[in-house]
Amino acid sequence: MKKIVILGGGFGGIRCALDCAKKLRGKAKVTLIDRNAYHSFTPALYEIASAYQPDDDPFALELRRAVAVPYKDIFKGKNIDFIQAEISSVDIRVSHIVLAGGGKLDFDYAVFALGAQAADFDIPGVYDYAYQFKTTDDAVALHNKLETSFRDAVQGRMPLPIKFLIIGAGFTGIELAAELMMCARKLSRRHGFNRRAFSAVLFEAGPEILPTVKEVERKKIMARLTDLGVVVMTNSAVENVLSDSVKLKTGQTVAGTAVVWTAGVQANRLLETVHGLPVTDKGKIMVDENLRVQNSDKLFALGDCVEFVDPKTQKSIPGLAYHAIDQGKITASNITAVIQNRSSHAYKPHVNSWAVPIGGKFVLVQISSSLWVSGFLGWLIRLWIDVRYFLSILPLKKALALFKKDLVLFVKND
Ligand SMILES: Cc1cc2nc3c(=O)[nH]c(=O)nc-3n(C[C@H](O)[C@H](O)[C@H](O)COP(=O)(O)OP(=O)(O)OC[C@H]3O[C@@H](n4cnc5c(N)ncnc54)[C@H](O)[C@@H]3O)c2cc1C
Repeated sequence: MKKIVILGGGFGGIRCALDCAKKLRGKAKVTLIDRNAYHSFTPALYEIASAYQPDDDPFALELRRAVAVPYKDIFKGKNIDFIQAEISSVDIRVSHIVLAGGGKLDFDYAVFALGAQAADFDIPGVYDYAYQFKTTDDAVALHNKLETSFRDAVQGRMPLPIKFLIIGAGFTGIELAAELMMCARKLSRRHGFNRRAFSAVLFEAGPEILPTVKEVERKKIMARLTDLGVVVMTNSAVENVLSDSVKLKTGQTVAGTAVVWTAGVQANRLLETVHGLPVTDKGKIMVDENLRVQNSDKLFALGDCVEFVDPKTQKSIPGLAYHAIDQGKITASNITAVIQNRSSHAYKPHVNSWAVPIGGKFVLVQISSSLWVSGFLGWLIRLWIDVRYFLSILPLKKALALFKKDLVLFVKND
């Protein structure tokens, strides 16, 4: 029986494991390794940071449960072995994976699905002083900072306005800033402050936000941010970060209550340590059109940890969950093809579609290159995308229960 090991249980790794187990039932042993016991549903992390919770939840369990999907629920009855462990090294010459704590695993086929991690672009202070925004823990930490800032302000220990400085006006920074404004309105009302008690500032290094989206979409997004009171500072490359301020390359210093970093990601640093793994100068794995690691017949790679140039556009595809999921599907079918001596399929990236929530029940969704919608209809479409994803990885009852839990929690600040 062939041994397939999937490294990382993100969007791509899970899809690949589920599909391999289904296609190769009885012919392969599928194992997935992740450092966490749960899969993080990153598209809703901004909702955790900005959740309005009148009830006490000191360990943030309710918040965590809304975005952390246990692997035991995903893999129950699916013939997949799940190992919770930190992968400390991989030796591809002898097909060995070493786990922190000493465990070892060998494989016939391995899939690198380790995602990306925050990058600081060598800006001093980013890792030391800024809140990161990549994991469930990061989102909970930011949520706690928002709540404690308001509590401190009530007791006179924190000057008003409370000001969150968000570096990076990409999709993540935008959705976070917008939703923080919504939550802050509720918190201001609860604590007897007016709307000016909180502000969110978004820093963008370039002359405009989201340079790759259409002008009409950008205007719509900017108008919504302005309506909500988010301050967008363009041409504002950050030079230095402290816990209560950012210094810009222009020489200006902007003071605030907290600094949040959403500006950049890099490939998982573990990959650099894998001797013989072909990686780009950005540390991403080089794959062929079938998502096989270059010059290897037993290694595959997918998602945010690979460099994949779309043959149509000649551009690298961005790190997005739906690309990782599609790549997970193709990888599973190509591993199956190799085991069954059939020919492999090339991965063809989907059209460029995305959704950006901008506060409350307002989402701008680009459905295809010529079709987009915004507002409440966009919000409904986004709900549909979320529930479809939950249904694709969980049994019906669990998927609907998670969707309902999220809906109830996330609309509290809308
Ligand atoms: C805040 C935020 C919001 C986002 N919103 C959206 C969105 O709305 N829509 C969208 O399409 N995309 C969104 N993305 C991007 C999306 O999350 C990624 O593109 C997607 O997660 C990539 O999937 P992946 O399978 O490659 O890796 P990931 O989902 O990152 O999974 C990698 C897994 O590997 C595990 N891992 C890493 N290193 C180790 C190790 N050494 N040992 C053990 N386990 C390890 C991690 O725990 C993780 O579970 C968002 C990202 C962030 C951070």
